[in-house]
Amino acid sequence: MKTIHQLFEEAVARHGDKALTVEPDGRRLSYAAVHELTERLAGTLIALGVRPGDRVAAKVEKLPEVIALYLATLRVGGIYLPLNTAYTGSELQYFVEDARPALFVCSPGEEQELAGRSPGGVSFASMGPHRTGTLFAQEDARPAPPVDVEPDAPAAILYTSGTTGRSKGAVLTHRNLASNCATLTEAWEYTHDDVLIHALPIFHIHGLFVAVNMSVTTGATMHFLPKFDPQAILDLMPGSTVLMGVPTFYTRLLRHPELTAERARSMRLFVSGSAPLTAETHHEWQARTGHAILERYGMTETGMMCSNPYRGERRAGTVGPALPGIDIRVVERGTNTQLPAGEVGSIQVSGPNVFREYWNKPEKTAEEFTGDGYFITGDLGVIGDDGYLSIVGRDKDLIISGGYNIYPKEIEELIDEHPSVRESAVVGVPHPDLGEVPIAVVVPEGAAPADPEEILEAVRPRLARFKQPRAVEFAAELPRNVMGKVQKAALRQDHAGLFQQAPTGP
Ligand code: ATP
Ligand code: MG
Repeated sequence: MKTIHQLFEEAVARHGDKALTVEPDGRRLSYAAVHELTERLAGTLIALGVRPGDRVAAKVEKLPEVIALYLATLRVGGIYLPLNTAYTGSELQYFVEDARPALFVCSPGEEQELAGRSPGGVSFASMGPHRTGTLFAQEDARPAPPVDVEPDAPAAILYTSGTTGRSKGAVLTHRNLASNCATLTEAWEYTHDDVLIHALPIFHIHGLFVAVNMSVTTGATMHFLPKFDPQAILDLMPGSTVLMGVPTFYTRLLRHPELTAERARSMRLFVSGSAPLTAETHHEWQARTGHAILERYGMTETGMMCSNPYRGERRAGTVGPALPGIDIRVVERGTNTQLPAGEVGSIQVSGPNVFREYWNKPEKTAEEFTGDGYFITGDLGVIGDDGYLSIVGRDKDLIISGGYNIYPKEIEELIDEHPSVRESAVVGVPHPDLGEVPIAVVVPEGAAPADPEEILEAVRPRLARFKQPRAVEFAAELPRNVMGKVQKAALRQDHAGLFQQAPTGP
């Protein structure tokens, strides 16, 4: 098995002069330049005391130099720990105390505040645009050769998005990263001829371990955008070949009049993941551009598990079959009993892509693996006769009302069709007779007041009685975590009292 940084060295040997990254201002960094910086930063890490097995945390702007920091960490046998730039104060304190990095790389000017919130033993260095920051100022650093690593040694700790509770650090090994990268590269026929529009953050699995790993190991070029910007993406489309995004990329691009089939002519692949892509968006995109978006499914702990086919039918509302070498099964909730095709249950996965453990959380790790070595994803889904998986929702969001299972996503999709609704979230709240009942929290579209009864009237005829929401509550926005995912636990809590009997006196 070759590690990501070994494959990068091979790509450098073949494509040294090629651009690895191109930034909006036209600055290009060649493979050779990123390699040279990687060797130098590896020396800097060693000079700063980083040893094999040490964590290197990075909470930095999206700069191409961050790729060199990541590869340098792998090169010295360290464990790369990317952190969301939106995290602040007490959240950061949790990550630093949990992971105890040897080195914390932040933006220039942040060192002091962070140091004040960190336990002893953490060193700080900074990294800013145009090679500003103390990390680049280490004069005594010598380029460092790569150290040998075991394939099953940790390469990274990636914190989950914190949608269902506190973020957990998923320990990913060199084998996890390399196998997932190889599987996707082959499945999506990604090569050095590809020009990727990279508009995702690089502290999350999709932007780093999918997009960056696939590029640095093949010799592809990335247009490196600091953030999602529909106009910039449209401007870059002619001449590019691949876009990797999340559903909101596509819904927002669809609102742009310049999106046409002509504009997307050189593009060969549009990928979506991280959250469900609606069938509506899938079909609209196909009608406008002539391309069927390829939806895939994965999570921090497993990398990518399922992908609609590159050659073959990409089916709206599904995440496709399991990728080669990965075993996905759907079991009855709370058991390991495999269900027949067509039945909804818990999704479990095993394969070389599955993470090793949660950092510092042996009980949590033990809870999430079955006795026969499958990881319990926490998602519910159904596999069709054709082997395509459809995600139905998260296990924790399942509503059980009077003994019936209710999947919120089905109801949300109907409510969202109503013209006075911008978005909705359906959650279960306690009910004295039925255990739980579904209610809808709705963000109205525009300023005009929406009528809850009208929304309920519109969805009732299309839902079995037990699935019909018992109330519509309006909200200016839905509570989201820093990854933009809706936090349903907060909504459940906010509305927990709706059907509870008022307490009666003694
Ligand atoms: P936490 O585990 O901390 O609660 P999280 O599960 O949101 O947070 P991630 O690992 O970033 O953290 O997200 C993975 C989850 O995203 C999956 O378990 C699944 O629920 C959802 N997801 C990813 N891709 C898709 C997809 N194509 N369709 C539907 N859901 C998806
Ligand atoms: Mg999760």
